[in-house]
Amino acid sequence: MFDLTSILRPHILTLTPYSSARDEYTGKEGVFLDANENPYGSTLDGSTLDGFGSEDHFNRYPDPHQLAIKERLAPIKGVRPTQIFIGNGSDEPIDLLVRATCVPGQDSILIMPPTYGMYEVSAAINDVALIKVLLTPDFQLDVPAVLAAIQPRTKLLFVCSPNNPTGNLIDRKSILTLLENFSGLVVVDEAYIDFARSQSFTELLDQYPNLVVLQTFSKAWGLAALRSGMCFASEAIIEVLNKIKPPYNVSGPTQSLLLKALNHLDAKDAMVARILAQREELVANLLNLPLVRHVYPSDANFLLVKFDDPKAVFDSLIDQQIIVRDRHRVKRCDGCLRITVGTEAENDQLLSALKVYADRVPTTV
Ligand SMILES: *Cc1c(COP(=O)(O)O)cnc(C)c1O
Repeated sequence: MFDLTSILRPHILTLTPYSSARDEYTGKEGVFLDANENPYGSTLDGSTLDGFGSEDHFNRYPDPHQLAIKERLAPIKGVRPTQIFIGNGSDEPIDLLVRATCVPGQDSILIMPPTYGMYEVSAAINDVALIKVLLTPDFQLDVPAVLAAIQPRTKLLFVCSPNNPTGNLIDRKSILTLLENFSGLVVVDEAYIDFARSQSFTELLDQYPNLVVLQTFSKAWGLAALRSGMCFASEAIIEVLNKIKPPYNVSGPTQSLLLKALNHLDAKDAMVARILAQREELVANLLNLPLVRHVYPSDANFLLVKFDDPKAVFDSLIDQQIIVRDRHRVKRCDGCLRITVGTEAENDQLLSALKVYADRVPTTV
């Protein structure tokens, strides 16, 4: 049986969280002399700002719990508002989960590289040990090896699906096996789920009390600049994250813009459809180039592409002002560059630049 209290750091259980002014009185009307705000307004008043209206009072602290957003988001995601945590990017809940569960110098988290770099960075920042179990050569979980590598003080497993930088979905049954056999939290990072042919794990939240799902507004929604991510989990886990987060972790302007964005699901879906069409076209065009050795199947908005001489390709692209992500030194990704799917015009530029490179360096195929 999963017991949240046994995986939390002991002092977190008894911690008294900061009580903000906006926690103590939640009414909207009144004379607010409680938060040392500027009563006259803000230095932005009188400026016309796209996306903001007279209801945006920049001089006031924002809702620390982002209730309006959660109310709006819950039906879209098929969860209850109390199962949602909104963070300053999904990088924030990654860090909060590590801090809530892992005693520095004693506990560990487990990751399955090649994967997203922030799990390791969060562990390092918090002085938390990192256990790594490589993905199989076809980028799937080595479940027996993962189960064998788990230690008594391992608190979190991070599974990224679709995985960054490989682009593939992780086999659903493997994740379920981990959920059923691990007494800590299984965090499924679904940053790219909108691009995938797969259901979100959020539908299993009521079934698995040790499941945490991360999503983000940074990719499909096109809101990377707002820095906001979503974390879905049991009420008990969300309560812990709320207890330890900075009180006003999501700014007022961000909340305002997120609320507007949530009314434009159709715009997100339309952009996702365009990106998916571009992805398929880019795959086909890349495969036509002799210098491309392999394009891995992708359920995300990027492609992992293998070249004979990735460093030379990368440098040539940089010379032509096309910036991709060099992953060729990453284990299991040797020879690979990670390429984000761009607009039609950007992808054409990429392909032309690759042809310029190929014309300079005759391939031996
Ligand atoms: C991009 C990405 C994120 C998103 O991070 P934000 O902080 O929400 O911008 C999370 N996880 C993975 C795997 C990513 O690639």
